[in-house]
Amino acid sequence: MIEEHKLLNGTRVASEIRAEVAEEVGALSADGITPRLDVVLVGDDPASQVYVRSKAKTSAELGMRSETHVLPAATTRTELEFLIDRLNADDEVDGILVQLPLPKSIDSTKILDRIDPAKDVDGFHPVNVGLLQQGRPQLVPCTPAGIMELLRRESIDLKGRRAVVVGRSDIVGKPMAMLLLHAHATVTLCHSRTRDLPAVSREAEILIVAAGQRSLVGAEHVAEGAVVVDVGMHRVTDRSVVEQLYPGNETKMAAFEKRGAVLCGDVDTTRVAPIAGRITPVPGGVGPLTIAMLMANTARAARQRRGSRS
Ligand code: NAD
Repeated sequence: MIEEHKLLNGTRVASEIRAEVAEEVGALSADGITPRLDVVLVGDDPASQVYVRSKAKTSAELGMRSETHVLPAATTRTELEFLIDRLNADDEVDGILVQLPLPKSIDSTKILDRIDPAKDVDGFHPVNVGLLQQGRPQLVPCTPAGIMELLRRESIDLKGRRAVVVGRSDIVGKPMAMLLLHAHATVTLCHSRTRDLPAVSREAEILIVAAGQRSLVGAEHVAEGAVVVDVGMHRVTDRSVVEQLYPGNETKMAAFEKRGAVLCGDVDTTRVAPIAGRITPVPGGVGPLTIAMLMANTARAARQRRGSRS
């Protein structure tokens, strides 16, 4: 259990962001522009289907239009490119999101490169990656952008402070490091080949963990008072693992009894929370911020592409 004064509450910040996006969508709509997000799903991966549904639902809640294009797993690269070209050419489409992972037969880099950078609401196109690197960001990947919003709104000072990012993916780790650097933190980027991770991560005043390894970060990785952001997301269905992760935590056990699973992160929250100064929970930390920033990116793309007085 995380003490209230330590909690970095992603759910609360995400709802603030969503309310601001809804207001902006209202202003755009008054100018005759209804932001529209098109999501492309290839195949029938159940987790992807859940993500895609929740993106469509949130778009509708904020007053945006949304279309979901579901294609069979056997779709060829040419067929997918044809759809992307059609969406690029459609002036009413502001955001295009291709749900990853794509089937192995399709090279996702080639597909993501084909999206119009002005509609690239995931921020994965090389043009948007380059602009971020140069410190003139346009559409920034949603998870790291959401974490920056969380830190800003929770008044976490970054200037001159030591930040360590664990994980160097294009989706989270690398853009996260770049955003922290532009916010004047001194940044170290760790990965699977980093030697003595605990020694490096203990240097962190701000520690962002996006390694995709359950409970990778324990008490030995964290300095007293550090701000810890846990990006990891793992579904645990084994009761003995839940008991080991959350000993004596009745809320977690009740959630497990109800759903047969609980979510946990890359950080061993039970052991790290007593040491950390501030910490995100899982769930209710980074997850809700990611989708809120997707909505913010879509509204931004609409404003930039189609113009508005707002
Ligand atoms: P990824 O697998 O693409 O990258 C993982 C990175 O972690 C790699 O760079 C790897 O070098 C590094 N790594 C792996 N093991 C390590 C170790 N033992 N020590 C140090 N570094 C190590 O993963 P990703 O797409 O960046 O996602 C990371 C995690 O975040 C996953 O659990 C994913 O589900 C989650 N995620 C959550 C959200 C959200 O909205 N909450 C969004 C994106 C990703």
